[in-house]
Amino acid sequence: MSILIFVEHSDGKIKKASLEALSYGAALASKLGLDADALVIGKTEAPLTELGGYGVKKVFHVGPTETSSTDTKIISNLITKVVEQINADVLVLSNTLTAKGVAPRVSVRLKAGLVSGAVSLPEINNGFTVRKNVFSGKAFSDINILTAKKIITVNQNAFEIAKTAGTAEVVTLNLEIPTSTIEVLAVNKTAGDVLLSEAERVISGGRGLKGPENWGLVEELAKLTGAATACSRAVADAHWRPHHEHVGQTGLAIAPNLYFAIGISGAIQHLAGVNRSKTIVVINKDPEAPFFKAADYGIVGDAFEVMPKIIAAVKALGAN
Ligand SMILES: Cc1cc2nc3c(=O)[nH]c(=O)nc-3n(C[C@H](O)[C@H](O)[C@H](O)COP(=O)(O)OP(=O)(O)OC[C@H]3O[C@@H](n4cnc5c(N)ncnc54)[C@H](O)[C@@H]3O)c2cc1C
Repeated sequence: MSILIFVEHSDGKIKKASLEALSYGAALASKLGLDADALVIGKTEAPLTELGGYGVKKVFHVGPTETSSTDTKIISNLITKVVEQINADVLVLSNTLTAKGVAPRVSVRLKAGLVSGAVSLPEINNGFTVRKNVFSGKAFSDINILTAKKIITVNQNAFEIAKTAGTAEVVTLNLEIPTSTIEVLAVNKTAGDVLLSEAERVISGGRGLKGPENWGLVEELAKLTGAATACSRAVADAHWRPHHEHVGQTGLAIAPNLYFAIGISGAIQHLAGVNRSKTIVVINKDPEAPFFKAADYGIVGDAFEVMPKIIAAVKALGAN
């Protein structure tokens, strides 16, 4: 009887989102009086014993395998086998793109109730009730999972990472890995140093920036602050920026510590993808722009006057 946390990695490093899921799973385990264990699939450079610092006792490792991280069918298959083998009660994943393909499949195979996008630890006094955001973050829904096995995917940035000094025992599992039905023809990495879905800071531009030739302002601030770049859908639709930078209801949903929006109106479809950011800064020349209602800090002004001043101030700060 235990809690199993699925841990994702990229370029050999454990993803920050998975460190949050580990901390969530460990906190839930201590609430339920169970052990927390982790599952890592595939080759990774990260020393797996160190995952003990996030509260897990054992790390089950399947691999090394060439399994493509995009093949959610294989990942689902392996996770299901491990949950059954160790008889885990609760499976915890971070609510990533991978988890969106994996969690529903595992849920069907295990006949396990699933809540995706949890924002806090379950209430366990009267059932097992998990809270999630609904209506693009405008309301909460409390869902009671009735099945014996349960699956929770945790929203990014909803739970603090808790790190201590522990180490975990690594158990290698030799599972048969099914043949993939996906042939990966090419892997095109997004431009820039910081992956948008993992970024702590995001500098984003909208149609207020007038054209792609002005994106130097966004890119320079992003470089200075170690941030990823993003844009509104209107900008991607106009081919000013690539579609993988588009955030919102129909784009990527992100939850960085800082979301810096320049010349973006703040339409509800845009906010749906960014309103879980910890701090939102908005620059817009229209004081009535809806984004100001969602902003922690707002600057009413022309981006072409404000941005050079901010960039100069960040440079001065860096120089000092
Ligand atoms: C079904 C559906 C799904 C959608 N999904 C998404 C989505 O996922 N993501 C998304 O972003 N949108 C989405 N949209 C589109 C959304 O409704 C908006 O049209 C879009 O977000 C507007 O982009 P924008 O804010 O960049 O442009 P605009 O609405 O044109 O706003 C530009 C802003 O820039 C300001 N501005 C102008 N000049 C300056 C200046 N010099 N300095 C400072 N500010 C300036 C203006 O005051 C204005 O507020 C969707 C729409 C639909 C119908």
